[in-house]
Amino acid sequence: LSEKLQATLADVRGRGTLTEDDIKKAMREIRLALLEADVNFKVVKEFTNTVRERCMGADIVGQLNPGQQVVKIVHEELEALMGGQSGDIVFSPRPPTVILMAGLQGSGKTTATAKLAKFLQKEHGSSVGVAACDVYRPAAVDQLVKVGGQVGATVYEQGTDRDPVDIARWALDQAKQDGKDVLIVDTSGRLHVDEKLMEELKNIRTAVRPHNILLVVDAMTGQDAVNVAEQFGAAVNFDGVIMSKLDGDARGGAALSVKAVTGKPILFASTGEKLDQFERFHPDRMAQRILGMGDVLSFIEKAGEQFDADQAAEMERKLRQNDFTLEDFLQQLKMIRKMGPLTSLLGMIPGFAGQQLKGMKVDEREMDRVEAIILSMTREERRRPELIKGSRRLRIAKGSGVSVQQVNQLVKQFAQMRKVMKQVGKGKMPDMAALMRQ
Ligand code: GDP
Ligand code: MG
Repeated sequence: LSEKLQATLADVRGRGTLTEDDIKKAMREIRLALLEADVNFKVVKEFTNTVRERCMGADIVGQLNPGQQVVKIVHEELEALMGGQSGDIVFSPRPPTVILMAGLQGSGKTTATAKLAKFLQKEHGSSVGVAACDVYRPAAVDQLVKVGGQVGATVYEQGTDRDPVDIARWALDQAKQDGKDVLIVDTSGRLHVDEKLMEELKNIRTAVRPHNILLVVDAMTGQDAVNVAEQFGAAVNFDGVIMSKLDGDARGGAALSVKAVTGKPILFASTGEKLDQFERFHPDRMAQRILGMGDVLSFIEKAGEQFDADQAAEMERKLRQNDFTLEDFLQQLKMIRKMGPLTSLLGMIPGFAGQQLKGMKVDEREMDRVEAIILSMTREERRRPELIKGSRRLRIAKGSGVSVQQVNQLVKQFAQMRKVMKQVGKGKMPDMAALMRQ
């Protein structure tokens, strides 16, 4: 999913202006990518409609880098789709807070029970007990004893002979006596949602009156996971989802659809077999991961604050007509510098994050020097750098406190840059990174 979306958005991102057709085409690609990622059909339809409408809205056409605005809109809508603000466990004013775990067999309930116990101990300093109410698979109790013990939770178990509802009730009493802050009730699952499973869950619910019912959903099962969540929601209402196995080659569809389909937020993400591979679910981070763009969005926002759209449009026109001068260059240098330390900025640009940036140090003093040199030129010289020869060169060097060679170098670099821009710069902002590398 990530790759598909990235390709589509990369295509759109660099555009100077976007037409309605461009947007339509991008939406088609996004729709396909989402469907392929096993996102619920209705969700996809609504999603692309919303994004399209926002893109068609007045604010996009004619803007600086409308492509980037599309990316931003897609990101925001992905985030909204997954729940906007992430939810949380509800704590009871009278402990223990009871959390009931539900889900199909193999979805990851027992693992998540131990992980959540560990998480709550760490984040909230809670003392946690876990109750072993899966009595159908002989190994299930042992498994909870093992992982529960590993995370230092008290495991309440009575083997496999008693009724799970009785065990749950008993465990709650024990937890109260032991002064636990939290009791997590692990339950059995089945291969499919059926009457018996739901009956048992309802009975346990009645017995322990949980403050939170969490549904564990296996991200690897994609569309099925969402159907299961819908069925659970209809039978025993739940409060939030733990999305398990997000580390695998999950295509992301379940994470994207579950909130839209069930109305319940994903609270936690389980991302591996190790007991500390568990974290609060952040829709914004997930959206970012899906888009796979590093910090591109914060870059866009920074740029949005600093660039004046009219200026930028004028710049673009000049670039296209190849009458970009040293004066423009100076102006642009200033705009870019306003945005903050250059290295961090370049790191935010997709394609520059990571590898390429390592070992490439942008010297801020070098930029000071460039600015000083250009400032020492006359307007005429800035507009027609080819004039800069002999005595002019000497005057500029003296005026800016650099050597004649350095003035030379800048003029040469600028000529080179113009050449590069002529080749690739059809409607694009100049590639500052390439420039810096020279
Ligand atoms: P339950 O039947 O719902 O209790 O599921 P389990 O907790 O026993 O988990 C079923 C299998 O999935 C086990 O082999 C777990 O190790 C594995 N598992 C659970 N959560 C994750 C996860 O987040 N990532 C990965 N890779 N495996 C997981
Ligand atoms: Mg289990």
